[in-house]
Amino acid sequence: MQPKACLAIIAGSQGFRWLDKLGKQADRIGPVTTPFGNSAPIYSVAFSRQDILLLFRHGEHGYEVSAPFVNYRANIWALKELGVERIIAWSGPGAIDRSISVGELVVPDDVIDETRRRPGTFYEGLGIGFIRQNPVFCPEIAAQLKRAVIEKQGHCRDGDVYVCTEGPRLETAAEIRKMALCGGTLVGMTLCPEVFLARELEMCYCPVCYVSNYAEGVTERPYTAGELFEGMLTAEEKAKVDAAIVLLPEIILEAFAGLSDERTCPCCQSMERYRMRGDIGDDWHTWINKST
Ligand SMILES: [Zn+2]
Repeated sequence: MQPKACLAIIAGSQGFRWLDKLGKQADRIGPVTTPFGNSAPIYSVAFSRQDILLLFRHGEHGYEVSAPFVNYRANIWALKELGVERIIAWSGPGAIDRSISVGELVVPDDVIDETRRRPGTFYEGLGIGFIRQNPVFCPEIAAQLKRAVIEKQGHCRDGDVYVCTEGPRLETAAEIRKMALCGGTLVGMTLCPEVFLARELEMCYCPVCYVSNYAEGVTERPYTAGELFEGMLTAEEKAKVDAAIVLLPEIILEAFAGLSDERTCPCCQSMERYRMRGDIGDDWHTWINKST
């Protein structure tokens, strides 16, 4: 019997460092077999208040699976199967808006999906899944994450928009200028379709980001062989990024601790329209077209 939990963290590419620190506190459940293939590795971690599931989006030892090849449907299906109701996702995007500092902790308020080849729904061919996306991130978790970020960082920005690109290549300078014109302030590769799939299964989802670099063309960073943007950070910027990554687990746990037991946000009723019409039943497994 696998453990049941209602909270989960989807950890980004630096998540494995946290796993090393957790040691025996983290019990490996392993990848979960789903109708969409195997999920990423999942751990159950015993914290003082309750157990929390930890899923490593890119693998448990580092960056083994790049963003376009993450099995998002398997990951979200697996967390739902394990009883998860609320997810906090961490991500390390680049800044499009020059007023954002490298190493700053940010809770985005909206997302622009620029992905192209990722299966983005559980409901292919089923005539269901018209779900509003405003607010796209769970407002209850967002409020708690912003409170926790203000506690640790002294401030937290409002109104940031995360542009999710396909990857694995990085963006051109012209693409970044286009994203800025569309209101994008951050650019990364991981939140889509994760957030939409969670909403399809009535799970709450909100990201917290540490800004890992400036996007292409935002600052002058000449090409250096063997280096990405991270390798071109100043010593001060690198120290700020490292400090932000260390703070992330504390912020996430603090945000979870501030949530009430009962969900009153729109996320938990996103499929109500179809339930009321009799299109779907109570068992979410039966909502999904498993042949896709
Ligand atoms: Zn919610």
